[in-house]
Amino acid sequence: MSKSRAVRDYLETLALFEEDLYLPREQSIRKSDATVPRELKALEGAVSPLPASLAEFEQSICNCVRCALGQTRTKFVFGDGDAKARVVFVGEAPGHDEDQTGIPFVGRAGQLLNDMLAEVGIDRKSVYICNTLKCRPPGNRDPLPEEKATCRPYLRTQLSLISPEIVVCLGKHAANELLGTDLPMKDLRGRVMPWEGMKLLVTYHPAYYLRNMSQKVHGDADFKLLRSLL
Ligand code: SF4
Repeated sequence: MSKSRAVRDYLETLALFEEDLYLPREQSIRKSDATVPRELKALEGAVSPLPASLAEFEQSICNCVRCALGQTRTKFVFGDGDAKARVVFVGEAPGHDEDQTGIPFVGRAGQLLNDMLAEVGIDRKSVYICNTLKCRPPGNRDPLPEEKATCRPYLRTQLSLISPEIVVCLGKHAANELLGTDLPMKDLRGRVMPWEGMKLLVTYHPAYYLRNMSQKVHGDADFKLLRSLL
């Protein structure tokens, strides 16, 4: 088939389906091995010198007790996913299921995140997921400012090593942590902002939709926006 014919067929298909055109399911968005690697730039506040790899970094901090959460956690929750991901999701802190398994976003909120990714054709394995804190605050209370400050170099080092194109903040704690703002979610959600040479998108935490399913339409819109950026 000629290129012009293929393009015409594609445009006709788009016109036919309009908003209902389905994206391919669970497509990998991993950086291509052929992609010329960007030179790793340590973000301000990252561990210096940068560790050689994410795995080496995890090994070096997995017994951290720099804040009190190190005494109460069951498991350290470093992060999960592709070390070459183009997209990194940042949540708040491990919850009960994450604390038990050592893997971020494995409970009901994690399942919803997986579903929302699949709905826009993104395979969870091709992104990277972590939290602002690596240890669970007791009773799932909000992270304390001193806990966030103590754990901050770890997140910044992870982002430096992965060097994604897009960072998605899941909820106000992640957004406030990375943007250094206390603006409310209504002023941040659904916006794409330049951040440290990357794009930063803010959306609600999936746990919010579990409590307010009528609001998930906003999350769906944000994930479509994310897909359009890739
Ligand atoms: S929350 Fe962060 S700083 Fe605190 S003990 Fe865990 S890894 Fe260390």
